[in-house]
Amino acid sequence: VFADVVQAPEDPILGVTVAYNKDPSPVKVNLGVGAYRTEEGKPLVLNVVRRAEQMLVNDGSRVKEYLPITGLADFNKLSAKLIFGVDSPAIQEKRVTTVQCLSGTGSLRVGAEFLARHYHQRTIYIPLPTWGNHPKVFALAGLFVKTYRYYDPATRGLNFQGLLEDLSAAPSGAIVLLHACAHNPTGVDPTFEQWEQIRQLMRSKTLLPFFDSAYQGFASGNLDADAQSVRLFVEDGGELLAAQSYAKNMGLYGERVGALSIVCKTADVATKVESQLKLVIRPMYSSPPIHGASIVATILKDREMYHEWTIELKAMADRIISMRHQLFEALRAKGTPGDWTHIIKQIGMFTFTGLNTEQVAFMTKEYHIYMTSDGRISMAGLSSKTIPHLADAIHEAITC
Ligand code: PMP
Repeated sequence: VFADVVQAPEDPILGVTVAYNKDPSPVKVNLGVGAYRTEEGKPLVLNVVRRAEQMLVNDGSRVKEYLPITGLADFNKLSAKLIFGVDSPAIQEKRVTTVQCLSGTGSLRVGAEFLARHYHQRTIYIPLPTWGNHPKVFALAGLFVKTYRYYDPATRGLNFQGLLEDLSAAPSGAIVLLHACAHNPTGVDPTFEQWEQIRQLMRSKTLLPFFDSAYQGFASGNLDADAQSVRLFVEDGGELLAAQSYAKNMGLYGERVGALSIVCKTADVATKVESQLKLVIRPMYSSPPIHGASIVATILKDREMYHEWTIELKAMADRIISMRHQLFEALRAKGTPGDWTHIIKQIGMFTFTGLNTEQVAFMTKEYHIYMTSDGRISMAGLSSKTIPHLADAIHEAITC
């Protein structure tokens, strides 16, 4: 009965790793997927995560019962504080509902499903470009996806004028997806002043912000600084949604741990919203998994472990920033034509190199360097050892 099923294409991002795995070359480098690697090219489990897991294992009172539909209560409270700030009035006024979801993707999906059922305006504006999964997540939840201008290839920076024009032209009440920090794939973020202008425009048009926070702490190494954009929008008392992921900042990728928060006008509304979120979640997966959320809650509620986490997080962010500087210097030393300052200006895990599809294909074929065809490279996949090889590849791709 399935004989007519056609072969689906590989996921554009995960497919890069599939191709990489097939390549027998000893010099191959995978800069496709956004997962942190050590200087030795190895995946990293944070010490503080190992410690939390050990504590969980040693605690004989722990059982494997189902979590509630909304997940681990402690985890939800602590996640809201992490993104909105410990002193957030919205939390104190109980205007926030937070539900544990399956990492960032699951949080976006649950939020989108909720909006499709309960929000009057079903159009969502996403930045151009954006993480490739965004349009699919939102469209499959039943929202109409439109784009707003974001990136300017000429400056390799923000097209702020285009962004303002497109959001000004959006219908009143439309949902707007915003990357809280470290925009993927461009690494280009608005400045604080630009965020404030975006906020004013959006509030004046009653556009509903939906923040995707997949990199809190990963951009600058500072958890509060990377949540500034979100907090700016909470401070004005307005509504918003925020999807959080612990994949990158705690290295919990495969544990699939994240949270969706909805900031409402009143505590009463927040309670009703939560009751509807349960109706979204129950038929999708009943309740979320317990292990990853227990690790996060263990770390967030213990002062000393939290501190250890911030140090390890900063070390990851600093290594990525150092890779930016090393790559920039390597290209400068080679005299590679062009302005490469965007490598050090862009923020977070990725550099949007500006290399075109042909140049990317050339680098993969000749240098066994794997990246998405839009020229995005994961800085976290680089090391001091692989940078000269990458610089050679870029140099030849540009000059040949
Ligand atoms: N949003 C953005 C912008 C991302 O880059 C990612 C991860 N690549 C996610 C959401 C979701 O990741 P996860 O589901 O693994 O938390």
